[in-house]
Amino acid sequence: MLELRFDPSLCTRCETVDCLMRCQYLGFDLSRALSERDVLVQGGKSQVLEDCVTCYACEEYCPYGGHPFYRIVELQERHGIHPVPPQIEEHQITSLAPREKIQYREMHAPLIDLCTFPMLKESIRGPLFENASLFWGTDVFCNLIYLHFGKVSITKQRLPLIIDNIRKFCLEPNHINELVCYHDECYATFTVFARAYGIEVPFKPVHLYDYILGRLAQMKDRIRPLNITAAYHRNCSNRLIPETHALVDEIFALIGVERVKRRYEDQNALCCGLSLDAQQRTELARDTRRRILEDLQSSGATHCVYNCPMCLFTLQESVRAIGMTPILMPDLCQMALGA
Ligand code: SF4
Ligand code: SF4
Repeated sequence: MLELRFDPSLCTRCETVDCLMRCQYLGFDLSRALSERDVLVQGGKSQVLEDCVTCYACEEYCPYGGHPFYRIVELQERHGIHPVPPQIEEHQITSLAPREKIQYREMHAPLIDLCTFPMLKESIRGPLFENASLFWGTDVFCNLIYLHFGKVSITKQRLPLIIDNIRKFCLEPNHINELVCYHDECYATFTVFARAYGIEVPFKPVHLYDYILGRLAQMKDRIRPLNITAAYHRNCSNRLIPETHALVDEIFALIGVERVKRRYEDQNALCCGLSLDAQQRTELARDTRRRILEDLQSSGATHCVYNCPMCLFTLQESVRAIGMTPILMPDLCQMALGA
């Protein structure tokens, strides 16, 4: 089984324990954070394993690349802690298993990896995605979702096969080497997660926002600035690839969108609540969504922009109810291109 590249000496030398101190859910003081950190380093059953809501944020908070969240998930599994009830966990593991039904299909660049979101295929249209090919399904599904389930062994077991499927059936026979990841989660899997576990990725993953910026630059003359104000809802997967978050403002600047300032954004972003629902933390999920919506409402923005389809599906109704328009980033860009 693949091993996490975890260096305990990084943590034992760390005096600030940002991973636990900055967590928005644990509420530790420094002395408690230091002692729980020691338990985690030693591989013990820290209270963190029970209380973590799997928001992924500590991966971003650690200034040394110490992989605190992957370590937490590893230990949850070792100690038999199930953040999500085992029945739901089992259902997910079975229903999203690779089917080994993938076959070669003629495709061409740009090649868009839609993960397990076939319902979004209608979004791959218009000038932004002109002549794009797409693929999706459980045979190419990144499987990073099991970080929410304390079941990283499933991801580790399936990921090499998934990577090989993409190489063998989608890329190599079509002489393509780049893959545009529609979802942050896939990009994070093929870049940082794979690196943390020493998994080789024989293709170049491209972040959706890098792709969009490239297309907008090519079609600069077609852009009609939207002249709107928008809030941006950051998703959990983006905590694994924080360097891509800056691209939001670059895109907004190109299409005439002013991003409003909010309390729960950037490094203070809150989970949409979907994972909390799955973990049966109903009260916390309700309270988190209440805080998100109050924050959005007081921001004065007309639109709330998402990258993660799951965050959009979870929040869109409530966002509409407070008079705002929920929209995925690619759809917003298509509007600026007149599509
Ligand atoms: S994971 Fe990072 S922030 Fe946390 S104790 Fe280790 S080095 Fe410090
Ligand atoms: S994943 Fe989120 S909830 Fe869990 S310890 Fe890290 S910051 Fe806290």
